[in-house]
Amino acid sequence: MHLRFLGCHHTETARTRLSSILIDGEVVLDAGAITSTLSAEEQNRIKAVLITHRHYDHIRDLPTLALGGFETGATLPVYAAAETIDALRGNLLDGTMYPNFAEIPSAEQPRLEIVEVQPWREVEVGGLLCTPVPMDHAVPAVGYRVAASGGGSFFYTGDTRGGVAKVWGDLNADLLIVETTFPNAQAEFAELTRHMTPASLERELANISASGLDLPPVIVVHMNTRAEEEIVAELRAVAERTGASITPAYEGMLVEV
Ligand SMILES: [Zn+2]
Ligand SMILES: [Zn+2]
Repeated sequence: MHLRFLGCHHTETARTRLSSILIDGEVVLDAGAITSTLSAEEQNRIKAVLITHRHYDHIRDLPTLALGGFETGATLPVYAAAETIDALRGNLLDGTMYPNFAEIPSAEQPRLEIVEVQPWREVEVGGLLCTPVPMDHAVPAVGYRVAASGGGSFFYTGDTRGGVAKVWGDLNADLLIVETTFPNAQAEFAELTRHMTPASLERELANISASGLDLPPVIVVHMNTRAEEEIVAELRAVAERTGASITPAYEGMLVEV
């Protein structure tokens, strides 16, 4: 699999953390930074979107992505868990602020086809095997284990306060893509908002090691741009202490899995 990280670094146009990971140019995880980063042709190549949770930085590009490719006539499947779908239908796609792309041009062939996923039930999306895994966050959330049919897999936590280690044995992925939203100095606020810090990542890695499993390489996303240097320095220290390979993602970063 060919991964491209979008919206995860401070840029002139993205002053706050946004989130999207593009897989093989065709499947995208979360809709925080699709239309602000990809060309029209790149957007039209997208075959499916998987959403982790309802927070705005993960869903905000769905209406603009839908409108952008509306003339193609293609139906774009959007995968999400039930609680997230309720929020999408009730707020973002209710026709108040923008057209309801889940029902136009027709209910039978809408621009966005909302597809419900179930915890731990694998679905095939664009030839990839995707498994939603419930994660502990401020609102109902899932991470996704994604595996290519020809081998190669990763787990993307989405937003969470942790809990990766207790499911890592079941995930058995080649790569961990995890958030660390806040620096250690903001641990209290991280706990309040159900996010991770480098210290909580270190605890997860220690727990994975303690259960006898090898540490996977780690890519970190969703860093608060206003504290990015501090977070990156703390991650470097975590990598030194644990021996783990930890890479902070940057805008446009390409990774092969
Ligand atoms: Zn969130
Ligand atoms: Zn977020």
